[in-house]
Amino acid sequence: KLYNQVQDLKGSIRVYCRVRPFLAGSNRLSTLGDIEEGNITIITPSKYGKEGRRLFSFNKVFGPSATQEEVFSDTQPLIRSVLDGYNVCIFAYGQTGSGKTYTMTGPKEFTEQSLGVNYRALSDLFLLSEQRKDTFCYDVSVQMIEIYNEQVRDLLVTDEIRNSSQKGLNVPDANLVPVASTSDVIYLMNIGLRNRAVGATALNDRSSRSHSCLTVHVQGRDLTSGTILRGCMHLVDLAGSERVEKSEVTGERLKEAQHINKSLSALGDVISSLAQKNSHVPYRNSKLTQLLQDSLGGQAKTLMFVHISPEPDAIGETISTLKFAERVA
Ligand code: ADP
Ligand code: MG
Repeated sequence: KLYNQVQDLKGSIRVYCRVRPFLAGSNRLSTLGDIEEGNITIITPSKYGKEGRRLFSFNKVFGPSATQEEVFSDTQPLIRSVLDGYNVCIFAYGQTGSGKTYTMTGPKEFTEQSLGVNYRALSDLFLLSEQRKDTFCYDVSVQMIEIYNEQVRDLLVTDEIRNSSQKGLNVPDANLVPVASTSDVIYLMNIGLRNRAVGATALNDRSSRSHSCLTVHVQGRDLTSGTILRGCMHLVDLAGSERVEKSEVTGERLKEAQHINKSLSALGDVISSLAQKNSHVPYRNSKLTQLLQDSLGGQAKTLMFVHISPEPDAIGETISTLKFAERVA
């Protein structure tokens, strides 16, 4: 009765769970039991109902010692399918501090080994397009946006970019910048990160309360037939999923919390209705799902990384994160 098994996921929606390691200095009492392939057991203390163990199952569970390379190697097939003309969405979900940005971008001071999915995905795209160059000619371009309080902000805005970019497809007003190498991408990501930091202060880290999305557009021309294939990939670092006590926040923070709640539950609703193959998919309920509509459902492929923290004081959020993940699975 205490076990709750998620069925193996059908179709093109996958859910991977990643557990952050303990950070230096934190105590080592863990809420984690066994991690085995796709299963993770959470030990729930008695104040959350019956004390006990609860098993959650996903397509894959990465424990605290999983490397960036290991995490990426299970993501790679999706990235390859973008070059074949599929649309792909990869999401990082979880409470603030659970490791979303680490998975997608990497740590603040990064080395080649600690680079995240975004960078690895792009470098893989370039590598593969090079390997296919006798049969296909690929053009790659990127957009970076942020959604804060249901407003979209272009993160790739500098004078150089303004002069060289075209307008994008899915996000009509955001700059779409052609890239030819991983160093172009790093350069742009740094501009995006700098722009994202504008408006944030030490006490007011906006990055945890906005969604950021790196979109990669790929166009491939078959050199013999002339056929054009178009694929695109959205790499989304979602706003922190933690519930804010209504009594504790007022004004601006309350508004932010409401927008985050609304858009994360809209995303959950869309993915779960796709997973259940419902005929109506409620894309219109948030900016995020509206923007990603063409890349969610149909032939598109979705990967959700749900992140959890191992510390005992995170147990409440850990359980609600895993329940969210169960619902979209
Ligand atoms: P989030 O984006 O969800 O708020 P972060 O990615 O910023 O969380 O992670 C919080 C802290 O934990 C950062 O200092 C980050 O470098 C570290 N961290 C997260 N995941 C890992 C991991 N898998 N291995 C090592 N450090 C990690
Ligand atoms: Mg973050």
